[in-house]
Amino acid sequence: MIRARRARIVATLGPASRSPEMVKALAEAGADVFRLNFSHGAPEDHRAALEAVRAAEDAIDRPLAVLADLQGPKLRLGQFEGGKAEIEAGQPFRLELNGATGTSRGAPMSHPEIFQALKPGVTILIDDGKLRLRVERCGPDFADTTVIQGGTVSDRKGVNLPGVILPLSALTDKDRADLAYALELGVDWVALSFVQKPEDMAELRMLVGGRAACLAKIEKPQALDRLDEILDLCDGVMVARGDLGVELPPEDVPVAQKQIIRQAKLRGAPVIVATQMLDSMVHSPTPTRAEASDVANTVYEGADAMMLSAESASGEFPVEAVAIMDRIISRVEQDPRWPQLMAAEHADTAGGDLNAIAAAATRAAAASDAACLVAFTAGGTTGRRLSRERPLQQILMLTPSIQTARKLALAWGVEPRVAADPANVEEMVDEAIDEIRKLGIAKAGEAIVIVAGVPFGKAGSTNMIRIAHV
Ligand code: PGA
Ligand code: MN
Repeated sequence: MIRARRARIVATLGPASRSPEMVKALAEAGADVFRLNFSHGAPEDHRAALEAVRAAEDAIDRPLAVLADLQGPKLRLGQFEGGKAEIEAGQPFRLELNGATGTSRGAPMSHPEIFQALKPGVTILIDDGKLRLRVERCGPDFADTTVIQGGTVSDRKGVNLPGVILPLSALTDKDRADLAYALELGVDWVALSFVQKPEDMAELRMLVGGRAACLAKIEKPQALDRLDEILDLCDGVMVARGDLGVELPPEDVPVAQKQIIRQAKLRGAPVIVATQMLDSMVHSPTPTRAEASDVANTVYEGADAMMLSAESASGEFPVEAVAIMDRIISRVEQDPRWPQLMAAEHADTAGGDLNAIAAAATRAAAASDAACLVAFTAGGTTGRRLSRERPLQQILMLTPSIQTARKLALAWGVEPRVAADPANVEEMVDEAIDEIRKLGIAKAGEAIVIVAGVPFGKAGSTNMIRIAHV
């Protein structure tokens, strides 16, 4: 199976979708990458899901990526008497490090780091910002607040502190255990939630040690302030609009989305746009007009991938959600204006042979009206760099490494396949043409543009462009 469209689909697996039959149906409908969300589910669920993805990959005969998403330092309130309490605007509410069970007068919050970072005047958001408190007085183990926005608080609701840098380690004990487990399973990508600063990604990279590609979820305003430094340490990035939208006002989220996509694209780091893309499809077989428009606009922005969360993890219509996303992406990519828009924002190609070759290959492919680009690559860098050019043609990426092929399943326009390293240039051309015939990408006589490195099989040796005819 081959995907004609360039933008990719990430589907989150969960109770509604992690059976082998459903994973296969999602892959057939268009999912390219599967997210295991370690905020939910038991280790055994994730193992079963990964095995289902590997089986689906065999069934559709196309590499599929698995992304393990670590929960990160998500802060929560403690528990309440009877599970919940009502609080009203204007009343006092006390948070305590070692507090008793919560009531309408106060609640326990077992995060000493929060109390260390609090100051009078700081806003505390509860339950995705539905409730708001303002800190009046605070100490190392308590905070007296005034309720600004009241409502019902209940057990273990999430706590956010917009703009406050918390002295937290990037990975909790749970994250470290989940990461070890995910790496043992052999996932292709690892995503870290609530990245605050570059050091967080450095720590993840160190722990991963090259066993998977690393992705930062941008969902804290403070991460936006240091985006370039964070991207320096990332193989990919996610615009995590769900949590980003809690700490930022709604009007700032689309602007942040554009900024993150642009900066990631210029570097050639795959960028995923996530959350509420087809939210109404959790309960409905069709999306709203606004949702269809949101997905389409993300394609027009040139993002690498769009993600489904609850729609595919726990919704009533996971396959329909993937199928409609597939149709929206494919439709946009047939807009006559779409190629121009993709080409409009070009990365600076200065710096290095690989950049020069990627830019030249893209121009050669356009000039020769080529049917596709072909990249022979070991680690995937050439595939990613060609993808960064957003060429008109599909990029058939051939690599001897299944791990490389799976990783690149996330990258815009890359069609990864496993193939042995050729012994010489003639063999390279034959291998490329064989694969193209098999996939039905080109007609007899059409040009193809091949990018490779001689000697073959050595990473970082890209030094050649070859035009051939099928
Ligand atoms: P989540 O991340 O679904 O793991 O919270 C995505 C987001 O916050 O948008
Ligand atoms: Mn999130």
